[in-house]
Amino acid sequence: MSAHQHTDELSINQALAWGYAQLIANKHISSDEARFEAQHLLCEVLKVNRAHILTWPENRLTQPAQSHYESLIKERKAGKPVAYILGYREFWGLKLGVTAETLIPRPDTEILVTEALKRITPKSKQLIDLGTGSGAIAIALAKENPKLIVIATDVHYPTLTVAKNNANLHQVKVSFIQCHWLEAFETLPKFDMIVSNPPYIETEDQYLQQGDLRYEPIRALASGDDGLDAIKQIIQESYPKLQSKGWLLLEHGYNQAEAVRSLLAQEGFCHIETIKDFAQHDRVSLGQK
Ligand code: GLN
Repeated sequence: MSAHQHTDELSINQALAWGYAQLIANKHISSDEARFEAQHLLCEVLKVNRAHILTWPENRLTQPAQSHYESLIKERKAGKPVAYILGYREFWGLKLGVTAETLIPRPDTEILVTEALKRITPKSKQLIDLGTGSGAIAIALAKENPKLIVIATDVHYPTLTVAKNNANLHQVKVSFIQCHWLEAFETLPKFDMIVSNPPYIETEDQYLQQGDLRYEPIRALASGDDGLDAIKQIIQESYPKLQSKGWLLLEHGYNQAEAVRSLLAQEGFCHIETIKDFAQHDRVSLGQK
């Protein structure tokens, strides 16, 4: 499809069918994703919601809208994740800016936010999110608890810039610190809660070479031969820096729950538990000091 092949602009339905056919030609994009993403990209171009495009399938695109849509579909067909094409992803109902410097927030990480919220009490004063990326977890928790002191760290400065912009956009107060896990913090028990979605994929895992993950920062995804390097370090560093009865909550791989629970137990944590994600995979483990 291009302007010189069509004298008339496409209808919404034709544009969606064309976009779908383009996207399923990429073997990393499933049929469901292709359908959803073609709709999502067209909604962005037309600045309307899904209800609009489903209600007005015969409406014709303008020429500029059609070429804009074509260019977005081409980028996606070439492999670039939708979140990086559009420059944002929704998380916890918040529109968060994302760039190639940040992991794309996943819906499953909202489970970590939910579990954290259940354990924040009126007495909780200070919370820290380690390896914050786009700021997703810290911003969601700060939004829900405006009085809480929320700190977020990331080892990579350009990532922190994205997170800071997101916090400003959503008018939440989060203090951002560039450091590796908890190394910038003295060994005083000061946090009521420590949360993290660290990298946890095995360095050699072929999954890293597939689909959208190829575009995401490897430092946010992979962590040693068994994927547990970061998690081990975080569990060890966290214990002395938590207040008594403070909580540590960690996202991890679907097959790492047992290992994470035993690392938590070895360090002295109690009330250890694993929570499943939307696909019923073990995804978050937590413990109390
Ligand atoms: N859950 C992500 C995935 O498997 C990985 C995120 C992470 O490593 N923290 O795609």
